[in-house]
Amino acid sequence: MCSIPRSTLLEIAQQVGTPVYVYNAQTILEQYHKLCQAFKDVPLKLKFACKSLNNINILALLRNAGAGLDAVSIQEVWLGLEAGFKPESILYTPNCVSIDEIKLAVEAGVQINIDTISILEQFGHLYGSTVPVCIRLNPHIMAGGHAKISTGHIDSKFGISIYQLRHVLRIVQSSGIRVNGLHMHTGSDILDAGVFLQGAEILFETAQHFKDLTFIDFGSGFKVAYKDDDITTDLTVLSKDITTHFNAFCKSYGRNLELWFEPGKFLVSEAGLFLVKTNVIKQTTSTVFVGVDSGQNHLIRPMFYDAYHHIENLSNPDGVPRVYTVVGYICETDTFGWDRKIAEVREGDVLCFKNAGAYGFTMASNYNSRFKPAEVLFYNGSAHIIRTRETMNDILKNQIRIIT
Ligand SMILES: *Cc1c(COP(=O)(O)O)cnc(C)c1O
Repeated sequence: MCSIPRSTLLEIAQQVGTPVYVYNAQTILEQYHKLCQAFKDVPLKLKFACKSLNNINILALLRNAGAGLDAVSIQEVWLGLEAGFKPESILYTPNCVSIDEIKLAVEAGVQINIDTISILEQFGHLYGSTVPVCIRLNPHIMAGGHAKISTGHIDSKFGISIYQLRHVLRIVQSSGIRVNGLHMHTGSDILDAGVFLQGAEILFETAQHFKDLTFIDFGSGFKVAYKDDDITTDLTVLSKDITTHFNAFCKSYGRNLELWFEPGKFLVSEAGLFLVKTNVIKQTTSTVFVGVDSGQNHLIRPMFYDAYHHIENLSNPDGVPRVYTVVGYICETDTFGWDRKIAEVREGDVLCFKNAGAYGFTMASNYNSRFKPAEVLFYNGSAHIIRTRETMNDILKNQIRIIT
């Protein structure tokens, strides 16, 4: 289990308390190097998707490994700078933000990525050719099976449609905008290399219209296994195909460009575990509920995306497997998993959710006025608290009492 010993996890649960997110630094670095290795025959740059896990220690870990950052808000830009990223290594890829926020990002000196025609127009008026810009295109290829995380389809709000290319070119030429990158991100969970390549081909064709390019950014979508039999992105096939096509493209373009990816999930999902404690075992007429000291406020993926997170009983690993429905303590239907076979669970047992590194903590909220969990990093052989659990001060800190 992401190679942190069970005894260490139980100690963390004991000392830091639950609920707690635990990340293994080594797993993150291994995943990072796996991608670097797979794409070793192209000038690769990896921009870690900050929104998947935003603890500044994780950011610093990946920065030290050589990664850049993919920031989707000005706040993620500032967080990245706080974590020591050089401005030029940060890609700012917002969606539907105002030109005012984009101005702040220009002031911060980061690479701007624009995904709306009206913003591109305003950007051209403001900066002309002085600030280079990347353009996010929607190639309209359908990736993944889940509507909420597919961003390439026709109804998507992301990117500028490839069918609007003529309009984009008119704006670029009129204002002399220096387009230094093209970008596509078709959404999480791409199942096969074919989808990537379809998008890639469209980007390569489009690239011939822009003479100032220094990079092409293929976004992310590297799939990781949540269940044992899940199909994952086949890196060997993907990297081989992309490398061949990319190098051929560079030749026809007449210059060597950088190839960028923005992995989030791939780097941090498997490295993260979420530990909770069993509050109650509740037998009803239909099932046996395991009620834990957390809920969709801390890990929303099962309720929001129907995501599967494997659940194990750390306290009683050799117990007889029984069938449970694991639920949270939030006053809202709040199910982590129906009909899970888990080693017999007793009140007080610590349960472990796997693959909780990505979109776990960063999507946590204070719903029901609960505190957000603590975060622990297993680094160089020992566990370090990297975020303390919230307290009542956090719940109250921005509230202004006008009625007593
Ligand atoms: C969310 C996001 C990513 C990361 O996606 P993963 O599936 O976590 O790898 C990359 N790029 C952009 C623009 C994103 O919005």
